[in-house]
Amino acid sequence: MTNSYDVIVIGAGAAGIAAGRTLTAAGLSIRVLEANQRIGGRAWTIHREGLPIDLGCGWLHSADRNPWTVLAEPLGFAVDRSAPPWGKKFLELGFSVSEQSAARKARASFDARLRNSDGETDRAADLLQPGDPWTPFLEATSGWVNGAELESLSIRDYLAYVEADTGVNWRVVRGYGALIEGAAAALPISLGVAATAVEPRGRLLAVTTTAGTLEASQVVITIPTDLLASGGLRLPAALDDRLETATHLPLGLADKVYFHLEAAEGLGLDIQALGNPHVARTGSYHIRPLGRPLIEGFFGGAVARGLEAGDDMAAFALDELAGLFGADIRRRLRLAAHTQWAREPFARGSYSHALPGYASARAVLAKPWDDRIYFAGEACSERDFSTAHGAYATGVAAARAILASSRRRTGSDADTDLGLTR
Ligand SMILES: Cc1cc2nc3c(=O)[nH]c(=O)nc-3n(C[C@H](O)[C@H](O)[C@H](O)COP(=O)(O)OP(=O)(O)OC[C@H]3O[C@@H](n4cnc5c(N)ncnc54)[C@H](O)[C@@H]3O)c2cc1C
Repeated sequence: MTNSYDVIVIGAGAAGIAAGRTLTAAGLSIRVLEANQRIGGRAWTIHREGLPIDLGCGWLHSADRNPWTVLAEPLGFAVDRSAPPWGKKFLELGFSVSEQSAARKARASFDARLRNSDGETDRAADLLQPGDPWTPFLEATSGWVNGAELESLSIRDYLAYVEADTGVNWRVVRGYGALIEGAAAALPISLGVAATAVEPRGRLLAVTTTAGTLEASQVVITIPTDLLASGGLRLPAALDDRLETATHLPLGLADKVYFHLEAAEGLGLDIQALGNPHVARTGSYHIRPLGRPLIEGFFGGAVARGLEAGDDMAAFALDELAGLFGADIRRRLRLAAHTQWAREPFARGSYSHALPGYASARAVLAKPWDDRIYFAGEACSERDFSTAHGAYATGVAAARAILASSRRRTGSDADTDLGLTR
């Protein structure tokens, strides 16, 4: 590595890659620092027995306005446009059609109460109805969607997402993580290099890393909120309030377990089953995603935290699957992979949610400091947070703000002049 750049981007996840692509396209000299030995952050496709498995993001949410959808095909990644399983009927095992209809009604009515709330409370749990038999189902759903319980969920934040979501959900056939990694192919990324401090040094910024100190005019920070809040990346004292803001946007937890499925026929295809719709401590199971001989289990919130803390995630999933399909299913399933996102040292969780009263924290987190330190990452998105496309948009926004500030400094109108003056 040389040690002086126009811009240093900290983190090679969706946001850092988007920022890096935008800045290099404008001709700036950049370096992306990535603490992990791989690119992608919470986007991570692995292969098991030749099958791509997304350990992090898997769905192109709001796919009809998702920038990753636009990038996919030119980069050689086919997009599957078939409907997601959660838009269809669940398997009827342990969850009759009439119960499914009652559960959906309870969810719709809860969402309506959230939408129509008078603003007296911003805590989603306050709008649960005492004695509603579907409260455990609503909590389980919040675990999957938000990675958190309704008790710690801001209504305003949740609604900002729901109202912006187009409801179109597609998949990247070779994996969402693989697409995001593919988009980084031409970027100058240093793997295994963690930034530990960013501090002013005259007109420049000094970025201390585990591989020495670098300098840049501007820095884009894309690390997840829990890492920011932990103080592991030291920032100028003037940004102490920003670390405080990050604590109001904690990462929820969602984890996945994958099994290879033998003699897959007959179990259903690209369909979802619920472990137990009457309890909050349950998983959702995607049977044969994209027709592949796999089952993907998904756990959120307290369930995921409990399973990471001690219980065996695979054993829990196998018990629930045996409850649904009969004990015989155990012999047809082989563990392929499982995640522990809270234990990933450079993630510490899955996706952010705002605590009650703190929906406005996202805009505060995203504010640049002194035209020199910029923030990006899914938590900075006011409506598409918790997603890879939200992360992308914040990376592009930070890069464009840097380009605009460089134009102001140099008095130039042309993006192509940027970076040549320093
Ligand atoms: C199980 C799971 C399922 C999900 N499902 C979906 C889905 O279906 N659809 C969807 O859109 N989203 C989904 N998401 C969320 C999505 O993956 C994230 O919102 C998105 O990838 C976040 O991108 P980011 O760039 O903001 O952060 P990250 O991907 O976390 O990138 C930050 C990068 O910074 C690096 N880093 C951290 N500290 C340092 C340091 N000190 N120095 C240098 N580098 C550092 C990290 O290693 C990481 O690579 C899911 C996430 C999980 C975990």
